[in-house]
Amino acid sequence: MSDPTPGLALVTGANRGIGRETTRRLALSGARVLLAGRDREAITAAAHELRADGLPVEPLVLDVTDPAGIRAAAAEVDRAYGRLDILVNNAGIRTEEYGRAPSRQPLERWRETFDTNLFGVVEVTRAFLPLLRRSPAARIVNVSSLLGSLTTHSDPDSYASTPMFKSLPAYSAAKSALNSWTVHLAYELRDTPIKVNAVHPGYTRTDLNDGAGDLDVSDGATSSVLMALLDADGPTGTYTHQGAPVP
Ligand code: NDP
Repeated sequence: MSDPTPGLALVTGANRGIGRETTRRLALSGARVLLAGRDREAITAAAHELRADGLPVEPLVLDVTDPAGIRAAAAEVDRAYGRLDILVNNAGIRTEEYGRAPSRQPLERWRETFDTNLFGVVEVTRAFLPLLRRSPAARIVNVSSLLGSLTTHSDPDSYASTPMFKSLPAYSAAKSALNSWTVHLAYELRDTPIKVNAVHPGYTRTDLNDGAGDLDVSDGATSSVLMALLDADGPTGTYTHQGAPVP
């Protein structure tokens, strides 16, 4: 049985790309959605556009690399709503240069990638966990990537046929670590109604890929939306693409 109303959702990095479409789809499904992002002007504009279509969307300033800002955002949501039902950790960056060997990517790129794509998720999740614990059926969705699949990129044929594996070692490693965090948290919360899952959106045409990709954002958002609206008897600790397991 599904929770009859999805309640209150928060999507990080929601002013554009997959996050914006995830916000739109969750709002269409009946959730009130906090459209979170680091740029006040960008989130206000994106929320305004979705509200013009009649969707219940509110902007929320949230830079996932700013611990004080994260705590302030959680306090603001606590004051206004007292709980959170869905957290989609979608914000992500890809800063490495294509074509550089893994050992030659600057360490600074590793640090900034991990700050946003891993530590940001951990920090945001920890700050909002008390609010998620007040939900009867909370869902946490961590937006990972196929590049985080160790099984896939340790396969020589996959590695050779996917140039991004060798171009994006920090991005891949941060997403692998995110998958590990997903499993740890799912075990920690296994006796609660909170389900924690990672998803691979698919290779989607967004700014992250300079507009390249196989999927449009509508298909790219499907994996997150499916896990955000999971039934009470649905799984936890999984890694899926559009509902199908990713190795
Ligand atoms: P985009 O580049 O289109 O959007 C990224 C979003 O993340 C933007 O809203 C951006 O905000 C936000 N963001 C970046 N840093 C921060 C921060 N410090 N705090 C808050 N928000 C931040 O990327 P996609 O929509 O493609 O990616 C969404 C997620 O999907 C990412 O986690 C990505 O790794 C993952 N993914 C994407 C794939 C693809 O093919 N597109 C494939 C696999 C995974 P701002 O506008 O302020 O920069």
